[in-house]
Amino acid sequence: MKEFPLTRRQFIRSAALAGAAGPLLLNGQARAEDLPRLSEDDPAARALLYVHDVADLDLNNPMAARFEPGQDCSNCVFIEGDPAADWRPCTYFPGKLVSNRGWCAIWAPQG
Ligand code: SF4
Repeated sequence: MKEFPLTRRQFIRSAALAGAAGPLLLNGQARAEDLPRLSEDDPAARALLYVHDVADLDLNNPMAARFEPGQDCSNCVFIEGDPAADWRPCTYFPGKLVSNRGWCAIWAPQG
């Protein structure tokens, strides 16, 4: 008797889940701009000295020691999304948007 890797019921269930998840993923990508903005008071943001505007960075804070003029979120390797948008997703703050003019202590140059 020939064996199938999936039972008919498993196949139907998998297809139904894939069909339901597809639009969610597409919508999630298409609506990145609808994500909430990262608050500077967010504990994760505070831990990394994140600021919305690099001009507001406290240069006396030891965590800003690596900062150099010209660095901001728009040219950080961890920024994602549409370069034309003022607020964009960041790998380090999933589910939130960071300001293109922002900065945090893990800034790293793009490729
Ligand atoms: S990791 Fe980069 S893009 Fe994300 S908040 Fe920090 S500096 Fe901005």
